[in-house]
Amino acid sequence: MQVIFLGAPGTGKGTQAKRLAQRFGAEHISTGDILRDAIKENTEMGRKAKIFMDAGNLVPDDIILGIIKEELLTKGNKGFIFDGFPRTTAQAEGLDRMLRDLGMSISKVINLNVPDEVIVNRLKSRVLCDNCGTDYNMQIRPPKISDKCDVCGGELYRRSDDAADIIENRLKVYRQKTKPIEDFYRSKGLMAEIDGNRNCDEVFDSIAKAVAG
Ligand code: ADP
Ligand code: ZN
Repeated sequence: MQVIFLGAPGTGKGTQAKRLAQRFGAEHISTGDILRDAIKENTEMGRKAKIFMDAGNLVPDDIILGIIKEELLTKGNKGFIFDGFPRTTAQAEGLDRMLRDLGMSISKVINLNVPDEVIVNRLKSRVLCDNCGTDYNMQIRPPKISDKCDVCGGELYRRSDDAADIIENRLKVYRQKTKPIEDFYRSKGLMAEIDGNRNCDEVFDSIAKAVAG
């Protein structure tokens, strides 16, 4: 299975992509997670990426394509689920070239649709566990003990790019840079439109059906 998740920030790509990867034994490849790890480890790439990410802007295509090349070469052969990649036309074209060289192809593109106002509410109230990554929503699904993870007891934190003005910019960047690649995948007949404004299980069932069909 070679799947791409499209969809604006806050549409649930991470949650659904992880679950799909688990169900089908494929590799979950999140460029956002890889970049955040690089920031934590204070690598040269991390220091460079942080400036763009803190502002809610995209990290340059050459950095992202470098990450993806490495991931595909080391983990690509058992199937993969891209979460947060590609995000620009140049990335989509770069991916196409890489896949061709490796004799691979994309089997499905999942486009998660959620209204902007719902996205803003989700991200504004989002907290994450710094140990296991479980996410909570302080309005809808708060943790049982106010600042500890229910699953592992880890510390909870807010992503610095979940601040209101940065969320607005991330949505704007999505409309300008990422939305145009929807047509690229539509014209290849790979696109599945999924309503992401439902409960997690319902969304997952639709996605599982779409990748199977
Ligand atoms: P979200 O989808 O909620 O914005 P991600 O974790 O996917 O969260 O991405 C967080 C940030 O990481 C983005 O705002 C961007 O700065 C950077 N990033 C992640 N993936 C890419 C990519 N494919 N191209 C450019 N920048 C990226
Ligand atoms: Zn946890």
